[in-house]
Amino acid sequence: TGDIEISELALNPRLGGPKNLPILERYLDDEDSEIGKVSMTKPHLVILGSGWGAVAVLKNISPKDYHITVISPQNHFLFTPMLPSATVGTLEFRSLVEPIRRIVAKVRGHYLEASAEKVEFSERLIEVSQPSRSGEELRFYVPYDRLVVAVGSQSNTHGVEGLQHCNFLKTIEDARDIRRKVIGNLELACLPGTSEEERKRLLSFVVCGGGPTGVEFAAELYDLLNEDLTMVYPRVLRNLVSVHVVQSQGHILNTYDEKISTYAQERFKKDSIDVLTNARVSRVLEDRVIFTQKDEDGVAHTKELPYGLCLWSTGVAQCEVTKDIVNSLESQKNRRAIETDTHLRVIGAPLGEVYAVGDCSTVRTNVTEHIVEFLKSYAIKSNKIVEDCSVTFQQWRDIAMNIKRRFPQAAEHLKRVDYLFTEYDTNKSGTLDFDELTHLLQDIDRKMTSLPATAQRAHQQGQYLGRKLTKLARVRETLAMDEIVSGDIDDLAYRAFEYHHLGSLAYVGNAAVFDLNGYSFVGGLVAMYLWRSVYFAQSVSFRTRALLFMDWLTRGLFGRDMTQI
Ligand code: FAD
Repeated sequence: TGDIEISELALNPRLGGPKNLPILERYLDDEDSEIGKVSMTKPHLVILGSGWGAVAVLKNISPKDYHITVISPQNHFLFTPMLPSATVGTLEFRSLVEPIRRIVAKVRGHYLEASAEKVEFSERLIEVSQPSRSGEELRFYVPYDRLVVAVGSQSNTHGVEGLQHCNFLKTIEDARDIRRKVIGNLELACLPGTSEEERKRLLSFVVCGGGPTGVEFAAELYDLLNEDLTMVYPRVLRNLVSVHVVQSQGHILNTYDEKISTYAQERFKKDSIDVLTNARVSRVLEDRVIFTQKDEDGVAHTKELPYGLCLWSTGVAQCEVTKDIVNSLESQKNRRAIETDTHLRVIGAPLGEVYAVGDCSTVRTNVTEHIVEFLKSYAIKSNKIVEDCSVTFQQWRDIAMNIKRRFPQAAEHLKRVDYLFTEYDTNKSGTLDFDELTHLLQDIDRKMTSLPATAQRAHQQGQYLGRKLTKLARVRETLAMDEIVSGDIDDLAYRAFEYHHLGSLAYVGNAAVFDLNGYSFVGGLVAMYLWRSVYFAQSVSFRTRALLFMDWLTRGLFGRDMTQI
């Protein structure tokens, strides 16, 4: 409770907040070194997380306008798209991470290695926990003026039992555990006392989930076993190795273009990677995965696969702090992520104070609500009763123009209504009625809120928010007071967030697949080098680029690192 030193920051001796915990001192101006001087000049921006969304905010914000504190239990940024390559030694762990302090230092901010537990919106306090060396947990509050929640997601368990036996692939520690286990299993299989059956089990690698992460891991593993295993392990082991991908849908990579998923599946078949589609895991035992698979007639059969390593990668779920935020705000309706408006402001939190980006968030567009307002005003203008309301094509064009201005990302979906209109025009009397239109628009809303949980989205949102927060800090002083409603100026000062899907890519074992805005491209070595160069260019710093280059070179010259360290 006294003055506890936490790195360069100090806790206030005064206890406060709903839980009566110590509160972190507000920040000093960088120029002021006088201890205890509280800066009231710049707003205090707190960013929760050190991943894609958070780093994009940091790289796009002006440090002149905010005191910035980053809170995250992970003291580095992780370049996740290349994480599967680190599990088998194609890349080194260090090449994929950048210390968060290096990034924070550039904005003259502070970093706390701790986890956010809860946000007290009314008091603008974040409850933070930090495990201490003695094992005791230290809890305190960090005050904020603006808050960005970018805490990402965690693996989705789908309520399946026995996942403690599985490996996950989210963090650098996960990749290290997998690497140790793969090499450890190969060594165990080489021991003279190991039976043939046990060898087969140890060398059976089961991947639950046929999304990009599962597919890339299976491909990397296959490369390792094919390219390096035979050089350094007894040849006889190769015939005992098996890689299985258990996928609940009819295809792997099912969010990609069909051509791509077919290519990936055929490539895996050629490489003898066993793809089990329409198969749902029901339980994981210490040495076996139990699953049900539907045959062509739709009849489900229960099967089992012995494994030496089982990777669980079946999508994402909310972190605990995200759940807490969603539950503590009444206006939040989506239980799977924090809902924001199109300005990325958290719905239900005090306006203009709290934002959320990346995997932990979802955008609520309200196109339906918006259009219903327009329909009502049309109905009133043309003296129609709302329930009776129908709009002509011309009226619809005006409404659509307005929505497009407000929600630019709705453009593609609005086109669908245009087509439908043309269809109705020939069949009906040239009008769409209220119910039909509302139904169509709800469909649009549903599609627009399900933005993908990808680095690409988190990066775009973080970039948008960093730039916007810089603009807001500057514009605030120039606006007349009556223009500012409840301290909120986002609507006035900056456009709404617009997601531009640049495409998806995946590695499928000495080949790569690209899905670029409706154009799909699959190929062997050329595509693989293209895949590498895309990620090489996106890598977060010159340092990590240099390390990546060295890793590829080392691997090309000497093969993968097969040690268990
Ligand atoms: P993250 O990058 O996950 O960052 C979340 C941060 O919040 C972390 O630093 C974490 O430590 C921190 N945090 C967690 N809890 C708390 C807390 N309580 N308090 C404070 N901080 C907290 N996407 C693509 O677009 N392309 C790909 O090829 C691709 N490949 C992938 C491969 C793998 C193996 C994985 C795991 C993901 C891949 N993704 C890919 C998805 C992509 O990594 C995520 O969509 C992206 O990381 C989301 O960014 P984010 O900022 O929301 O969360």
